[in-house]
Amino acid sequence: MTGARCIACGHKLSRYTHTCPRCGTPQPHKRIGSSVALIVLIVGLVAYLAYALLASAS
Ligand SMILES: [Zn+2]
Repeated sequence: MTGARCIACGHKLSRYTHTCPRCGTPQPHKRIGSSVALIVLIVGLVAYLAYALLASAS
């Protein structure tokens, strides 16, 4: 993801910068990828359990 900006001053940041070079504000880590993977895993598990429940009920 390019075009990251400082949360405090809006200074354009390089990809792997964790603190703003302009104002020194630490930037939050972006873990969107792992969050999506976790959600997919949970949704998949719930769907599997629902399917197993329906299969055993009928
Ligand atoms: Zn800044």
